[in-house]
Amino acid sequence: MLVVMQRSATQEQIDHVLSVIKEMGLTAHPLPGATRTAIGITGNTGAVDAQPLSVLPGVFDLIRVTKSYKLTSREMHPEDTVVQLPQARLGPGTFTVIAGPCSVESEAMIMHTAEALAERGIKLLRAGAFKPRTSPYSFQGLGLEGLKYLHKVRERFGLGIVTELMDLEHASAVEEVADLIQIGARNMQNYSLLRKVGQMKKPVMLKRGLSATLEEWLMAAEYVLSGGNFQVVLCERGVRTFADHTRNTLDLSIVPSIKKLSHLPIIVDPSHGTGKRDYVIPMGLAAMAAGADGLLVEVHPHPDRALSDGAQSISLPQLDLLLSKLKRLEGPLELKLV
Ligand code: PEP
Ligand code: MN
Repeated sequence: MLVVMQRSATQEQIDHVLSVIKEMGLTAHPLPGATRTAIGITGNTGAVDAQPLSVLPGVFDLIRVTKSYKLTSREMHPEDTVVQLPQARLGPGTFTVIAGPCSVESEAMIMHTAEALAERGIKLLRAGAFKPRTSPYSFQGLGLEGLKYLHKVRERFGLGIVTELMDLEHASAVEEVADLIQIGARNMQNYSLLRKVGQMKKPVMLKRGLSATLEEWLMAAEYVLSGGNFQVVLCERGVRTFADHTRNTLDLSIVPSIKKLSHLPIIVDPSHGTGKRDYVIPMGLAAMAAGADGLLVEVHPHPDRALSDGAQSISLPQLDLLLSKLKRLEGPLELKLV
């Protein structure tokens, strides 16, 4: 259920509605909008008895939300959400490129990469300190030491840090360093982790699970929003299909589907989505054309020497090419490349 307040509703009237919802044993989520406030209601097992709410002063309308996901749905929140980071924003009108290596490999390597990215106008650097690897024998990331280097990157180059949180144990260490906390595909349905980031003050990037449907993905995001953290960006990174010419099948049609059903920004990861560096530029351009709010791209100064995901990492000259091609599309698509 969504309670839409009148444009002229006072803060006192809004507070009164919030307290009545609480008295009904339900949870109220105030959703301030550009012109009026709406209040989402969750916690009900059946239909909400709207009568006591409909007569309260300042209430304009009551709307039943039909989808199983509530707070993530456009029904409940018609305006697009903007995820605001200190260095950049993710949302309508902009196309934000998040770039960087799969993993932090050493201090020298991440500093060198960060400098090259900052020189190219990139505002947000991605790099994993904790890596979810298929094999326990593969490089697992530098862990806390990697976070320390990412902190230095932030200090030295002013880049926003996007890095993965894999488990509850490292929640506060990652929260401290990250500007955008990445929840990886393998953890999309790790509900205790989702509840944890739902309580955090930092924005969250939720990657799509390896074989998650749109509804499962939005339900996962619902865990974060229902904890009070509305700063969530979705990231399509390909799903498992029968097709084996690429590592995963990048599902670009989920971009307009998400846009229709949810207010959350969605970015696309053509690196994990294809697994092949030669496909990153075409699929990155296609993501922009499909209406995505940005890209997450793996970039490495020496892709063939990368300790993880080298095959899908683009080189710096390839990043230059990607950026120049995106730049040519931003005007016709009425976007601003960030
Ligand atoms: C990554 O971004 O490096 C990563 C591990 O991604 P995913 O969770 O999508 O596999
Ligand atoms: Mn990777």
